[in-house]
Amino acid sequence: MDCTVDHYIAGMLLSGVGDALGYRNQLWEFNKSGPAIHQELQELGGLKNISVELPDWPVSDDTVLHLATAEALATGKADKELLHEVAFRYVEGMKDMKGRMPGVSTILGIKQLCPGTEGGYRVPYNSEARGCGAAMRSMCIGLRYHHPDQLSSLVEVAVETGRMTHPHPTGFLGAVASALFTSYAVQRRPIATWGLGLLKEACPIAKTFVKSAGYAVMETESGWDYFTGKWKWYLDLRGLSLGTGPVAWPDQYGPAERDKAYTSFSLSGWGGGCGHDAPMIALDALLGAGSDWEELMSRAGFHGGDSDSTAVIACCCWGVLYGIDGVPQCNYRNLEYRGRLENVAQKLYALSH
Ligand SMILES: [Mg+2]
Repeated sequence: MDCTVDHYIAGMLLSGVGDALGYRNQLWEFNKSGPAIHQELQELGGLKNISVELPDWPVSDDTVLHLATAEALATGKADKELLHEVAFRYVEGMKDMKGRMPGVSTILGIKQLCPGTEGGYRVPYNSEARGCGAAMRSMCIGLRYHHPDQLSSLVEVAVETGRMTHPHPTGFLGAVASALFTSYAVQRRPIATWGLGLLKEACPIAKTFVKSAGYAVMETESGWDYFTGKWKWYLDLRGLSLGTGPVAWPDQYGPAERDKAYTSFSLSGWGGGCGHDAPMIALDALLGAGSDWEELMSRAGFHGGDSDSTAVIACCCWGVLYGIDGVPQCNYRNLEYRGRLENVAQKLYALSH
């Protein structure tokens, strides 16, 4: 089925749902193993019985900043004007972080932004900024620039907004991946080709852009290869190096095995904590779950790593692909910021179609 405005709405809305479910008000993100979360989920009556709403299921930093990116894009601004707008909204978003656990690089980066002043959307290079904070808020860039011939705009906006907090390529290339995968979902491109598209189409454009933008070129180039190397490794592991499949899965791949696998994807030991592996786990979940919502959340949102950020990415793509029909109403009916998520989705659809 072609991508409609309802798919945009489902993508934005379900990204927030995935974030809130994976976060569980600080109880699940980073704190519990996949099997322990699945056990608790069963005690709560299963996913279909969870009303995702305040006070128990707030959205986290992911959704606050994803909304900031999306609402800046929805102004229709472009180029530097857009980057100042995004920076302004990130600064505003930090006023709404009570109980939402923003990451270290996000806090530091946004503190250094000076929107409205010359070059004020740039921050000094930070070799530690490899986390998933840029990836988790960039899916909407793929909704705005979804046409194959808009790929360079998608990449440039993802790189520049990503490095407002995550100047290390492992960090900001995560933003490129999230945006790209969402644009592929809009295009109805087969999921088995997404990883190869990232490596062969988007990353080379990002590298050329970094050179032409002339900011932190040497530092960025010297940190480049971890992201692309780990993605090559993952595509080999899953039999997707040629972008065709079939996907190679382990014999056993339940919550316990997935915790181990996701840790092996990671740099730090926390699956999904970085820019390369948050979109990697999201893709792994999309490949495995098909159109099954419960299976998607099981794989993308209920594991022992950075569960809200892997879910926010996976659920956005899943909503764009499959819409909202297969999701129990209680999962999204009273979601915090539902109105803003739906509104901005409609605006992005109108702007880009
Ligand atoms: Mg979070």
